[in-house]
Amino acid sequence: DLDLAERAARKLGARIAPMTVHAVDDVSLSIRRGEVLGLVGESGCGKSTLGRMVAGLSAPSSGRILHEGRDTAKLKGAEARDVALKVQMVFQDPMSSLNPRMRVRDIIGEAPQVHGLVPRAEVDAYVERMLAQVGLDPATARRYPHQFSGGQRARVGIARALAVRPDFIVCDESVAALDVSIQAQVLNLFAELREEFGLTYLFVSHDLGVVEHISDRIAVMYLGRLVELGAAEDLIARPNHPYTRALVAEIPSFETGKKTYHAIKGEIPSPMNPPRGCHFHPRCPHAHDRCRIEVPRLRDVAAGRLSACHLNDRAA
Ligand code: SF4
Ligand code: MG
Repeated sequence: DLDLAERAARKLGARIAPMTVHAVDDVSLSIRRGEVLGLVGESGCGKSTLGRMVAGLSAPSSGRILHEGRDTAKLKGAEARDVALKVQMVFQDPMSSLNPRMRVRDIIGEAPQVHGLVPRAEVDAYVERMLAQVGLDPATARRYPHQFSGGQRARVGIARALAVRPDFIVCDESVAALDVSIQAQVLNLFAELREEFGLTYLFVSHDLGVVEHISDRIAVMYLGRLVELGAAEDLIARPNHPYTRALVAEIPSFETGKKTYHAIKGEIPSPMNPPRGCHFHPRCPHAHDRCRIEVPRLRDVAAGRLSACHLNDRAA
């Protein structure tokens, strides 16, 4: 929705967005080289917006995005291009992010050729290597996107990102459109590529079960704010924040395939008019007076764990 508003504003030649929505508000986060940071939250929580900003596809209205200590907004020329290539994005729906009129050979080979990473004469061989790298038959280079299955298209999208030799990939719901069994295969591919190329991922998903599968650490967002951050296994085993607890309760059980119970009651409030104090208070079973007034700050609650909930003060 935000993207739509942004595009509409641009079309009209407007220099300012038609509305001010703090899709992401006061989020401070660092991602370590070589790690997979999962970013999870319901739709509209700002996780995609944050992912797009990290990938350099949209700019924050305030604040900074640093890549290896360099403020990406201040980079120019070769340095800017270098970071633009080093940080790639893999989108949710390859059908809409892959040009349907382009052969896979060009989808994957265009950017490396344009940026001079691969000599023209070697592009075909390079594309074939990339296809093999993501588990596709090199002969499929001649095909168009619609001639692939969903899982294969996801692999094409990954090969396209990989082809410009990134060190950091933002995955936005990259497996969300796939069947569960295919999801697992593509997640395994992400894990293999990470090993092989020493990649770092920001893995954005609404699905905590998917994020748990691949992440070293998990960050939980709610209505534009980071509410909890911690080591993946530990966070799932011992969620601190009431919102994280509710998300964890919604992970389907492997035995029954059923959700244990629906812990999160109520609608997600509009990000245009978020509740005062703790954004989660209208849905939180532990909300008390202070929650309706005062914004809980993210702070250390255990080793390697940050959480933003007033209950931690009571416990302390
Ligand atoms: Fe619930 Fe209050 Fe904690 Fe927010 S601060 S999550 S409303 S207990
Ligand atoms: Mg999204």
